[in-house]
Amino acid sequence: MGFIVGKEILVVKNAPLQDPVEYRIMNYDVSLRRQEADLLEVEVIHSHGNNPNLQSQPFDPYVHDSPGITGGGASHIIRVAFVGNPNAGKTSLFNAASGAREHVGNYSGVTVEAKSATYTQRGYTFELVDLPGTYSISSYSPEEEYVARHLMGDHTPDVIINVVDATNLERHLYMTSQLMESGIPMVVALNMYDELEASGTKLDVKLLTKLLGIPFIPTVGRTGKGVKALFDQVIQLHENRSRTRRIVDIRYREEIESLISRVREALVENSPDGRGGITDPRIRPRYIALKLLEEDSATTELVRKSYPKADYLLTVARYARMEYLKTYNQDVQSAITDARYGFVSGALRETLTPGDDTVTDRNRRIDRILTHRIWGFPIFLLLMYLMFQATFTLGQYPMDWIEQGVAALGSWIGETMPEGMLRDLIVDGVIGGIGGVIVFLPNIVLLYLFIAIMEDTGYMSRAAFIMDRIMHMIGLHGKSFIPLVMGFGCNVPAIMATRTIESHNSRMMTMLIVPFMSCSARLPVYLLLAGAFFPHHAGLVLFVLYLLGILLAVVTALLLKKYLFAREDTPFVMELPPYRVPTPISVLLHMWTKAKQYLHKMASIILIASIIVWALGYFPLKGGERTEVEQAKISAMTAQNNLTLEEAEAMIHQENSYIGRIGHAIQPIFEPLGYDWRMSVALLSGAAAKEIVVSTMGVLYAGDSEDTVGLGHKLREAKDIDGTPLYDPVIIFSFMVFVLCYFPCIATLVAIAKESGSSKWALFSATYTVLLAWIMGFAITQIGHLFI
Ligand code: GDP
Ligand code: MG
Repeated sequence: MGFIVGKEILVVKNAPLQDPVEYRIMNYDVSLRRQEADLLEVEVIHSHGNNPNLQSQPFDPYVHDSPGITGGGASHIIRVAFVGNPNAGKTSLFNAASGAREHVGNYSGVTVEAKSATYTQRGYTFELVDLPGTYSISSYSPEEEYVARHLMGDHTPDVIINVVDATNLERHLYMTSQLMESGIPMVVALNMYDELEASGTKLDVKLLTKLLGIPFIPTVGRTGKGVKALFDQVIQLHENRSRTRRIVDIRYREEIESLISRVREALVENSPDGRGGITDPRIRPRYIALKLLEEDSATTELVRKSYPKADYLLTVARYARMEYLKTYNQDVQSAITDARYGFVSGALRETLTPGDDTVTDRNRRIDRILTHRIWGFPIFLLLMYLMFQATFTLGQYPMDWIEQGVAALGSWIGETMPEGMLRDLIVDGVIGGIGGVIVFLPNIVLLYLFIAIMEDTGYMSRAAFIMDRIMHMIGLHGKSFIPLVMGFGCNVPAIMATRTIESHNSRMMTMLIVPFMSCSARLPVYLLLAGAFFPHHAGLVLFVLYLLGILLAVVTALLLKKYLFAREDTPFVMELPPYRVPTPISVLLHMWTKAKQYLHKMASIILIASIIVWALGYFPLKGGERTEVEQAKISAMTAQNNLTLEEAEAMIHQENSYIGRIGHAIQPIFEPLGYDWRMSVALLSGAAAKEIVVSTMGVLYAGDSEDTVGLGHKLREAKDIDGTPLYDPVIIFSFMVFVLCYFPCIATLVAIAKESGSSKWALFSATYTVLLAWIMGFAITQIGHLFI
């Protein structure tokens, strides 16, 4: 990540709890823990001149023209891969080109999987792949290995689009220098060109193109500027018509060059095709030799697969490495890395004239407030509180409209349709169930709006910076914080995002505590119940529930660390991206995608669940003689509780239905928690997806009253057979906590099983969360009832 010999490091600031520390190196803000920073060797700056290591490689590209690249013919499909450092704007460009709506975020680790889409221009169809961001292609981290494999394996693209951040070229061109040697045709998207221009920096793009032998095309990912030119270059490269392209090799030290030749010759002599290539003939033997010298695991594996004498070749490379280490007392990997950086800075010295660094100044000023030693933490909490408060209060208005609309629709259909099973199904099952959930659409969209703003501005990374020390205390890293915050949206992508965590134990722990982050599916339950039972403090109740989730996550992490995952610390560098004003388009797209997902969920799983719950409550049909006990109940109800005969009969019917029987059968489990059979059934059906808790309640209470009032009102008024109110705030709060904790939805469990590689952990998560939910619910109800 730029921590290489000869670079200047600036200490920028300490996090609130003295750890981690923000450093600046090669124009990048990164955060390191003290412990990790200890691993770096730093010299005081004035000893500069005497350090022999500091003499960077002179810029002297060894140039040779190589027109003999096998072009793909006049094929009209061009496979293109977007590669580059995290946060360079790959996904933005990918979206701009293809019209896809992949998630863009101002921090690293957003894209964890390759996403594909297509784009057409000038009669060509481009198959685009958006790869996860990596700092190099050296297989150090799982993502790097993934990218290396993608590029060198069976998926080698026809053309690589290397996306670089034009304002941080020294860092970003490192990867370019690696890719450039591979021999795969490549064009560089000089992204964030708008920022480069704004900073007053001058870059001689033409000269840079000439020096490196690769076309450099200025682009702006957020607006799609330059995309056409970019793909024109891709076509030219693919058709072998590019005039700029030539292969430029980095000239390494003489000693290294001779080692490269040695390995390269061995490769050529022993290759099955006599040229030294692997699967793709365009990949140059020199590059493979370099990668073997670097001990790159993806390449090693490829060589094993494609060369009959792989063992011999790997031995040649190993001896070469050992020889270098013995002679120069430096490993050849670092020597190669140094030379690459030297090459990059040489090229930049000729082409780049830095302007005044206003962006950095601005970032620094904002950071001074938001990550302040003392105020950083309260500011963070305040922002979270405001977020939940706003989610509730701003969402209230559209929510009321939708609620009225749903109620009006229900009574209209109720009046116009002929009486019968179909009418009951539509009014009580479909409208009762979906109507209960759909009213929360505005709130969900609002929550996502806030999350999107936090992500896109770059605040999320700062939050991780502030939280690092606390995460550290529970055995996690600040990096785990991002999946956790993503969990507020949906747990499934959050669990996938744990892939960016290098340490196995930290990753497992993060995965297992993500379900305590209240996802947006739980929000309808909270909103319904908090609105009905805590009307004046609903925002606060929300905030408390989310905090409680975090607290339970912390406790769980501590337990996991103690009993299952002994501490293991991998040093980790976290990048702090610059602050950016989010683009309205990106934020709106994000909201729209989420709204669509929510509606889709409603039209599928929630609809089905509502119908099932309705049917179970509808059958068996009324009929036969009422027993004496029932008759007595009905008369008691009508006499004491002002219920009409019809209402009383409906209640008795529901209790006798299948769902009533299921509810009564499982209700004893929830008796100590104070939940009635309807709540028990709602919890049961909510295991599929937590919104179903609400839709089930909606169905169960649909027939209860003829007036068109919202579900919240019905719950508040719900009475037991003997006329006492069914629910009180204590029971409701306990229920909300139960919903917070229990059973991550099926999709989340599948994600856990997949990401951890074993269904054991999914099972563990299911059991643990259900037990915890019961204990928490029990404690709250029992203790609460001592006071109220
Ligand atoms: P990725 O990690 O490489 O996929 O990067 P993203 O596409 O997620 O973008 C990272 C951040 O940079 C987001 O906040 C984008 O809005 C922002 N961004 C992307 N391209 C540009 C650009 O050309 N100019 C500016 N100013 N910001 C950009
Ligand atoms: Mg991305």
